[in-house]
Amino acid sequence: MLLSSLTPSFQWIDTPDALDAACEQVADASVIALDTEFFRENTFFPVPALIQFTAGEQAYLIDPVAVSCTDTFRALLQNSAIKLLHACSEDLEVFQHWAGVLPVPLMDTQVAQGFLSDVPGIGYQKLVEFWVGEMLPKEETRSNWLVRPLSPAQCHYAALDVIYLLKVWTLQAEKLATLGRLEWVENECQTLIEQAGRSVENDQHWYTRHRQLWRLTPRQMEAYRLMTVWREGETRRRNLPRNWLISDKLLFAIAEKMPSNRFELAEVEGIKPTLIKKEGDALLAMVKQAQHCDEAALPERWPDPMHPAFKSRFKALKKVVAAKASELGVAPEMLMRRRELETLVMQDLAEEPLTWPNGWRGEYLNADLAQALEECTS
Ligand SMILES: [Zn+2]
Repeated sequence: MLLSSLTPSFQWIDTPDALDAACEQVADASVIALDTEFFRENTFFPVPALIQFTAGEQAYLIDPVAVSCTDTFRALLQNSAIKLLHACSEDLEVFQHWAGVLPVPLMDTQVAQGFLSDVPGIGYQKLVEFWVGEMLPKEETRSNWLVRPLSPAQCHYAALDVIYLLKVWTLQAEKLATLGRLEWVENECQTLIEQAGRSVENDQHWYTRHRQLWRLTPRQMEAYRLMTVWREGETRRRNLPRNWLISDKLLFAIAEKMPSNRFELAEVEGIKPTLIKKEGDALLAMVKQAQHCDEAALPERWPDPMHPAFKSRFKALKKVVAAKASELGVAPEMLMRRRELETLVMQDLAEEPLTWPNGWRGEYLNADLAQALEECTS
């Protein structure tokens, strides 16, 4: 394996004029590769430390500590050129926060690779090795990107992050086109943008990430839901990491106990007096709101994943997805995620309308999924 011999050419950008001039240089490009380096230890939002982009051999390194986003760069992020990123979810947060807009139309090389092999979630270095046959230097991944000046090694590394991305995509796109899967990647990335853009709406669903929801009654679940929505809003407003305000474990324990006053709240395991003093009233108000919520407005009870009726259905559906995935040579989670399977089973058990996969996924899966459920019932 070759160690990357390429010494990339890059330009350091720390004024609005330089940024606008760089945008001019790539104005006609059809693909722009982007990456960000950021720091996120004590904040809700990532603190941007570097923003890289390229449309060819020359990389531009923006210093977001020195220069604010300009209208020209904002327009570039939204022009018709493909915006290429790798494993983009946190990068999207950086752009949303720093630029106020998301890079579109988006293509993510990690998503693309998920439709080209049965290994989902491939890392950038492995991806470059696979397509370009070169090894990138690894040592800068954990370096401090907020120091100034950055070392030459850091700058090279940062520039290679975007330069190779472009090379990888050219090869991936060819293969995807041959397989007729370009549209799959487009759809998937479109969904990523929609989900990233709707963060306040996403707050409403945050609670469904908890693996033990089935242990809560609908009323307890409503309390837990209200508290997670509140925490999302508060941590965003105060720019704090979630767990600095209150941990998930504690919110869950409060929901289980449903305390009606400060004394009962103080009995929740692991709760600190300072938290009760600062946030106790807010927490108790939400528990009270859940206590008084109309029966009909409560969330559905989450099914117990250990229940035989759940287990058999889940297993049957999983088998269908695994078979289809192996036919296509992709990982099962690229077809359907665990959560989506669970939702289908839950709806089936509750005799509710089912949320079938849509688009190309539906074409591949729905008939077989329906048959598998049918067989579980009979
Ligand atoms: Zn990077």
